[in-house]
Amino acid sequence: MTGSTLENIVHQLYAQSNTHCNSGSVANYIPQLAEVAPEKFGIHLCEVSGNSYSVGDSTEKFSIQSISKVLSFALAYTLVGEAIWTRIGVEPSGTAFNSLIQIEIERGIPRNPFINAGAIVVADILLSKLPQPQEDFLNFIRGINNLDHLDYSPVITASEKAVGYRNIALCNLMKSFGNIDNEPEAVLDFYFLLCSIEMSCQELSQLFLFLANNGISPHNHKTILSKSQTKRINALMQTCGFYDESGEFAFKVGLPGKSGVGGGIIAILPNQYSIATWSPRLNSKGNSVKGIHFLEAFTSASENSIF
Ligand code: GLN
Repeated sequence: MTGSTLENIVHQLYAQSNTHCNSGSVANYIPQLAEVAPEKFGIHLCEVSGNSYSVGDSTEKFSIQSISKVLSFALAYTLVGEAIWTRIGVEPSGTAFNSLIQIEIERGIPRNPFINAGAIVVADILLSKLPQPQEDFLNFIRGINNLDHLDYSPVITASEKAVGYRNIALCNLMKSFGNIDNEPEAVLDFYFLLCSIEMSCQELSQLFLFLANNGISPHNHKTILSKSQTKRINALMQTCGFYDESGEFAFKVGLPGKSGVGGGIIAILPNQYSIATWSPRLNSKGNSVKGIHFLEAFTSASENSIF
């Protein structure tokens, strides 16, 4: 498919999803997220070949929330290697992103790195391994694509910390099983910080393009992950990126992807493109209604997915 055809499809389907798909509601369990205008809608697609297409609110920053779980996991994976799988599994949870139930039954080992429990273990690993965790993580994500202005939002961090009861429970439960090394409060502070990263669709899709390019940043040719690590992260996004809606996302869209309760989604077509969408209205599973609607229409119209 030519670049101009893809661009036309992006524009046409943006208008369609915008008009016909306005159900869902903005996340309100984190007070600061409830302040975001629900009608925001942006898309940015970057091709490995260098083309990129943008529409709507694609340069406005938003809270990427759980999308950062892919980045924190990527860094932890490079630091720990395959030993990481002694502390986190690789199976879909089939439960909500903040569910506690499996952690008790499965003795403190989270099903995968993309549910909250898994990302809290990843935060614990990073705290143990990085000399200056906050700065080092920021430098890692900034360095992927020379996006030097990426940053945490202290306002979002504080807002989530004030009501983080379920995450506090998850971290303490895992500590009781011996799967958290550091003090739970320090781990949680770092976890909330990781969730608070802000980016626009444009930055998000530029940043994640290395996952469509066998682990190499097409921008500065840096190797971020090995080919095998990249395959595994894409596989985990495919099977676990949307919590208990991961099967449905695979069924409808057919791309590895990751969502966040800020309303963002990143999706990857290996060797071709990364696409970021942002629309804050969420369904009952915590995933963006309009983003999923658009991506389903997009892979159908472009007749291109991993399947
Ligand atoms: N910071 C959010 C939380 O821990 C992330 C959840 C998400 O984006 N699904 O609840």
